[in-house]
Amino acid sequence: MTGFQRIAVLGSTGSVGESTLDVIARYPEQLRVYALSAYSRMDKLALQAAATGAEVVVVPDAAAAQRFRRAWAGTGPMPQLRVGAQALADTAADPGCTTVMAAIVGAAGLPAALAAAQAGKRVLLANKEALVAAGSLFMAAVRQSGAELLPIDSEHNAIFQCLPQGGHAGAPQRPAEGVRKLILTASGGPFRRMDLEDLHQVTPAQACAHPNWSMGRKISVDSATMVNKGLEVIEAHWLFAMPADRIEVVIHPQSVVHSMVEYEDGSVLAQLGQPDMRTPIAYGLGFPQRLRSGVSPLDFARLGRLDFEAPDLKRFPCLALSYAALRAGQAACITLNAANEVAVAAFLEGRLPYTWIARVIEAALEWQAGRPSVTLDSLGDVLSLDGQVRVFAGNLGLA
Ligand code: NAD
Ligand code: MG
Repeated sequence: MTGFQRIAVLGSTGSVGESTLDVIARYPEQLRVYALSAYSRMDKLALQAAATGAEVVVVPDAAAAQRFRRAWAGTGPMPQLRVGAQALADTAADPGCTTVMAAIVGAAGLPAALAAAQAGKRVLLANKEALVAAGSLFMAAVRQSGAELLPIDSEHNAIFQCLPQGGHAGAPQRPAEGVRKLILTASGGPFRRMDLEDLHQVTPAQACAHPNWSMGRKISVDSATMVNKGLEVIEAHWLFAMPADRIEVVIHPQSVVHSMVEYEDGSVLAQLGQPDMRTPIAYGLGFPQRLRSGVSPLDFARLGRLDFEAPDLKRFPCLALSYAALRAGQAACITLNAANEVAVAAFLEGRLPYTWIARVIEAALEWQAGRPSVTLDSLGDVLSLDGQVRVFAGNLGLA
């Protein structure tokens, strides 16, 4: 491991955040929590802060700060309490931390993830929406600051591990030598076999019941529609400087092969393991060393078989929309992501049928394609377009 690390876990109360704290706790001599952040669930945040001895906690607003103080009462000296989105970005760039786990969900995590990259931290990137919305800015920041970028999304972590020399923890300018294509695996989610006519009726609870992974609600719905895989294609494009036509998606229902790299000589390297985020998280924390993660080994005899099939684009229109957005450019990617976030939130609140998620994305992409082109050279430009898409999608009767 690269010496002693002081870690800011952004989104610590979430699924990836909790798994991160689990791995950190296994190495008390080398890994320390410097800061924690959460948007809600202040009780849980207070428990985490007490258990880890975090020096800093970041919460979204004064009301949350009040709830945190109440939850903390009587626990001892309180960590430094910072409030608001700017404080979150400042904490990610704070000289007090060496390493930032970007595990906030959605484009809301972009400013802090970008701040960590600009400050030259070791950035463990789970927050894929940050790259989808601002891939070029983010990778330029990594290049300029010399930040160490380690992909945590399991597919990208797998690819990173299968690239020559175990991948280079920076921002490549071109595809790795000798690589023909990247193959992302996808479970196909809970609706892989459901009759297409029945999809209209599915509930948030059904969509969130992922067959293999236990995750936050937004990414669970994204996995059901497979927009998650689409976002991951865009993420892979930026992380590995790979053009869209050299990134393939294959359905693999067991989620044991986490992704693959195909080389010019016909070799295909794959990374396998249990579907448990502690493996990629431990890889990112320990790189270039291997840490214990608490994940149980694979039992191949029990697995028996591994299956693969091509994704059905009629069932998963969001996958085709994602490829189209990547080919169309950054404004389309921002649009795809923001429209999806609005649509998924509406679906989770029971205001939008499942099958309309793809329709909202498609309508937003058409709207964006018909507008004059915009410059996207700064975080402000990106957030401005993101906000306009949210207004557009909200005006479809979703807000
Ligand atoms: P989650 O919903 O379980 O947790 C999200 C965290 O972000 C929480 O701590 C929440 O308080 C915080 N948060 C939410 N909105 C916020 C806002 N507006 N401002 C600041 N903080 C906010 O999500 P998750 O499943 O842990 O996913 C986190 C990210 O990691 C997502 O981008 C997801 O796509 C990615 N990811 C998750 C998994 C997984 O297994 N869960 C796997 C791969 C990638
Ligand atoms: Mg993934």
